[in-house]
Amino acid sequence: MDRRHKTHAVQVGHVTIGGDAPVVVQSMTDTDTADVQRTIDQIRLLADAGSEIVRVTVNSEEAAAAIPAIYEGLAKHNCNVPIVGDFHYNGHLLLTKYDETARLLHKYRINPGNVGFGNKKDDRFNAMIDVAIKYDKPVRIGVNWGSLDKELSTQLMDENAKSENPRPSQEILHEALVLSSLTSADAAVERGLGANKIVISCKVSRVQDLISVYQMLAARCEYALHLGLTEAGMGSKGIVASSVAMGILLQEGIGNTIRTSLTPEPGASRDKEVIVSQQILQALDVRSFAPEVTACPGCGRTTSTFFRVLTDEVDGFLRSKMVNWRHQYIGVENMKVAVMGCIVNGPGESKHANIGISLPGTGEAPSAPVFIDGEKFTTLKGENIAEDYKKLIEEYVQK
Ligand code: SF4
Repeated sequence: MDRRHKTHAVQVGHVTIGGDAPVVVQSMTDTDTADVQRTIDQIRLLADAGSEIVRVTVNSEEAAAAIPAIYEGLAKHNCNVPIVGDFHYNGHLLLTKYDETARLLHKYRINPGNVGFGNKKDDRFNAMIDVAIKYDKPVRIGVNWGSLDKELSTQLMDENAKSENPRPSQEILHEALVLSSLTSADAAVERGLGANKIVISCKVSRVQDLISVYQMLAARCEYALHLGLTEAGMGSKGIVASSVAMGILLQEGIGNTIRTSLTPEPGASRDKEVIVSQQILQALDVRSFAPEVTACPGCGRTTSTFFRVLTDEVDGFLRSKMVNWRHQYIGVENMKVAVMGCIVNGPGESKHANIGISLPGTGEAPSAPVFIDGEKFTTLKGENIAEDYKKLIEEYVQK
C-alpha cells in the first residue's frame, strides 16, 4: 500500500508502530491484572495467537504491584511480547509510586478524558508524561467517545451554538475528539516527549464516526494512529462493524496498529479478536498471518456435514501450527489451502491452491483427490481423510 498516511515511527519494545512498519495487531487482556497467573496465561494465549502487543489494565495498587511478577512469569516462558499499561484516573499516582512497574511496561495508555486533556496546568497528565520521559517510554493518548473531556466538548458546543453558521452536533463531537487527542499530544511534546513516542487513538462505537474522526486525524497530524472501534458489539455485528470501519481506513492508508474489540460471547476464547484483526489485514492484502483456507460455501451437492467439519478442522490445525511454523518456515503464511465440497469447483479451486482437497459430492465415488501445486497428487479414502489430509499439509510445509 503506497498511499499510506505518513507518520512518525514509534518503538514499543521490539515492535515498531508507524513509519514504514507493517500494521501491528494488538489486543487486551480481560483478567484482573492483580491475578498474576491468569494474566500471564492470557497474555501468552494472545501472543501465541499472533498479538504483537498486549495491553493490560493497571487500575489499582494491586494491579500495579503485580506487573513485575507478570514480566518475570512471561520471561520464564520466553514470551517477550511488549506490554502496555492501561491507565485511567489514578495513572499518575500508580506510575509515580510503582517505579519498577513504570520501568518495565513498554508503553503507557493515557486517557485525557479522565486525567486532563493536555492543559499545561493539569498535574495528572503532566505527571504521567514526566514518567514516560524519565523512562524513555512511548505513550498512547487514547481518547474515547464515552469518556471525552466534558469541559472541552461543552466549550466547543457553546461556541458552535453562538456561531452564525452552526455545524451539526455530530461534527462538533468529532472535532472535540480530535482536538482532545491532538492538544494532549502537542502538550506532551512541549513538555519534552518526542513526537516519535506518541500514538493516538480516538475510539468511537459507530462506523461512520470512526471513519470521519480518523480522516480528520490523518489530515492534521503525523502521529502514529491506533485504530479500533470501541464497544463494537457481540458476534457477527462486532466483527462486521470493525471490519468495515477499519477496512475502509486501512484502504485509505490510515492506521498503524489495530485492535478489534469484541464483546466476548460465552465460552469464546479471548484470542478471537486477534484472529479477526489478522483476517482484516489479510483480506486487504496488507499482511499475511496464516495460510488461507479456500472453502466453497457448500450446497445440496455436499453429502454430509463432514465437509464443514473438515474445513473448520484444517483452519484450526493451520492456526495451531503457525505458533511454530512462523519461526521455522519463511513465507508459510502465504500458503493457500483448499477444502472443496464436490467435483463442480473442487478440482479447479484445489489446483489453484498450494494444496487442495475435493471431497465427494452427492452421487460421486467416495474418494477425495488431493492436488499439490496444481497437479493431482493422491486420492484419500476411508475414515481418516481429515488426519491424512493434515499430514499431507504438514509434509508439504516441511518440503
Ligand atoms: Fe456446491 Fe460443489 Fe460448488 Fe461446493 S463446489 S458449492 S459443493 S457445487
